[in-house]
Amino acid sequence: MLTLAMKGLILAAELVNFRPRFINNEGLILHLSRRRFLQLTGLGAASAAVFPSFVHASLPQEPRVLMLNNPHTGESLESCYFNGHRYVRSELQRLNHLCRDFRRNEVYPMDKQLFDQLSRIQALLGTAAKVEIISGYRSPATNKMLRNHSRGGVAKKSLHMLGQAIDFRLEGVELSLVHTAALKLQAGGVGYYPKSHFIHIDTGLVRQWRGA
Ligand SMILES: [Zn+2]
Repeated sequence: MLTLAMKGLILAAELVNFRPRFINNEGLILHLSRRRFLQLTGLGAASAAVFPSFVHASLPQEPRVLMLNNPHTGESLESCYFNGHRYVRSELQRLNHLCRDFRRNEVYPMDKQLFDQLSRIQALLGTAAKVEIISGYRSPATNKMLRNHSRGGVAKKSLHMLGQAIDFRLEGVELSLVHTAALKLQAGGVGYYPKSHFIHIDTGLVRQWRGA
């Protein structure tokens, strides 16, 4: 039986792109895949409490796959936007299209760091859950319209207008855990909107706030 401290150490190793090693009963070191590791240790969403502090480590040079859906348009896609060596432009375009301002049908090049933030949040939580995009790019006109219809929830100079912010939730994953993981990245702004049930992440300065 692994102690909590051991689990924490192994998880820490996992998070810096290091295949966890177990020594089995015969003294053999086993290299486990991430999925198998999470199965064996029972770590998954519950691992939020033992996140080590150095999760800023960049993602491994391995393919990065995201499943996204846009509840406003009903669109969904699965994209390997990073092939292990480089970002795949055609895949980023597909992601940009899904994250477009659906009200005005305007596509904008999203900051690809956002997709990496989503990948890192998923890695921390040990999930490949579908990412529901509540809001991606917002044209200035849409941002203004939303500002006029909300009570302080929409910033005048929103990073959504620069393709540098995404509001999202992970299908089937408790929002508070997604929030905790997003904060651990220390990668930009994080807004927590528990009533509206989404998390805002952006690639601006590291800061945090709570909305409705
Ligand atoms: Zn937002």
